[in-house]
Amino acid sequence: REPRGVQGDEALRKDAVEQATRHLVQPWPYAGSAGAEARTLIGEGDGIYITDDAGHRLIDGPAGMWCTNIGHRREEMAQVMYEQAMQLSYNTPWYTMNAPSAELARRIADHAPGDLSHVFFTTGGSSAVETALRFMQFFNNVRGRADKKLILSRGGAYHGSTYLSASLNGRPRDRDWMDGADDLVVKLSSPDPFRRPKSLSVEGFCDALVEEFRSTVERIGAERIGAFVGEPVQASGGVILPPNGYLKRIREICRANDILYVSDEVVTAFGRLGSVFASGDVFGLDPDMITFAKGVTSGYFPLGGVVISERLLEELRRSNHPDAMFAHGLTYTSHPIGCAVALKNFDILENGLLAHTREVAPYFQSQLRTLEDLPLVGEVRGLGLMACVECVADRESKDPLELDKDVGKRIDAHCQELGLLVRPLINMCVMSPPLVITRSQIDDLVSILREGIVRTMEELRKEGMW
Ligand code: PMP
Repeated sequence: REPRGVQGDEALRKDAVEQATRHLVQPWPYAGSAGAEARTLIGEGDGIYITDDAGHRLIDGPAGMWCTNIGHRREEMAQVMYEQAMQLSYNTPWYTMNAPSAELARRIADHAPGDLSHVFFTTGGSSAVETALRFMQFFNNVRGRADKKLILSRGGAYHGSTYLSASLNGRPRDRDWMDGADDLVVKLSSPDPFRRPKSLSVEGFCDALVEEFRSTVERIGAERIGAFVGEPVQASGGVILPPNGYLKRIREICRANDILYVSDEVVTAFGRLGSVFASGDVFGLDPDMITFAKGVTSGYFPLGGVVISERLLEELRRSNHPDAMFAHGLTYTSHPIGCAVALKNFDILENGLLAHTREVAPYFQSQLRTLEDLPLVGEVRGLGLMACVECVADRESKDPLELDKDVGKRIDAHCQELGLLVRPLINMCVMSPPLVITRSQIDDLVSILREGIVRTMEELRKEGMW
């Protein structure tokens, strides 16, 4: 097939670069290049591949931003968008509704754990987290618990880029130059076993985390804490898998203290860990709310949402304030095209892709672990089709490389030359390919990544930095 898009079209490429440099503000820009930056121009996507403006075909290692789960350029997705747009492209959500959103809510509820039965649709993950938190505030106001609003979050967390969701973020750099609603948020430790205190076993570390949670609730007072928000696997923090049993123990403390447990599954839902939702199926949890986005449409349309427990809605309906309004909605809540796209995406997941993911995930994990023989690699960890290669200066001491070495970026640059896009995170490389990846494509991904790390090691040695 002839390449389409920008490849080979030098004029188009130049125009795009010039216009972007003059008029586009890229996300996550540095002050020094804000509003004056072009990035790699992508011409087309196909399956697990994307092609850049020079015509280089790259494996989409991070699946966009953890989202292109069913792969790029699927005709049935284009078809469903076209058909829905030709039937009903929009309806005003505050006094009308559409059928795709109702069917999608029912299918999501069918897969959600516990009594999570209702869905509020948003435009993405940040607005989903924001919705869950505003719902908690409303819920406690209606119940006459106006003081019960504080939110517990953790180091290593990423929950979004709107004001309140971003206030929960706890990764390095997230808050260096940004303000947040610090009076509303209490931060706890990251549940990162790799970076646990040297004196503790993983079990001891788990006990310490649970104790920190319990004593924080006791110190602040449960009557002031409304919610805990946590990713089951901290994705953008570096695919941090908490110690076994930790999530369930936190859940029980929340239940005992009437603190709503919000499981942020923006990354982990819709297939990444082999299930529609990982909270119940993988971790045995029954949260009060689950936030999702990304994989729900595999990035074909901006859509997210919150699944809410029947118990909470029932309590609202039975409250003394039947006229209190949850004054919260978005122009694009329950967007008909987004929901129709999500229904088709659901079909693809259920008709084999979830099973395929479960089948290839152990191979993906074991092949990536072979990289642990490289002296720059401190740990390879992950679950399902998400993983992280963490580089260290010294494997014994686990000393992290200095930030300015930007090892992830160096590895990414080498890998891009070899045909793989990596998501660099300071000294880490995150891998979360589209779920349609095959075993032989996993072999390609791992061998390119190995070569990229080897070249980075040589480069660092040459520069006397390692
Ligand atoms: N929660 C998690 C766990 C995420 O990883 C992200 C995005 N990476 C968000 C929320 C925010 O989602 P969005 O970018 O769609 O607003």
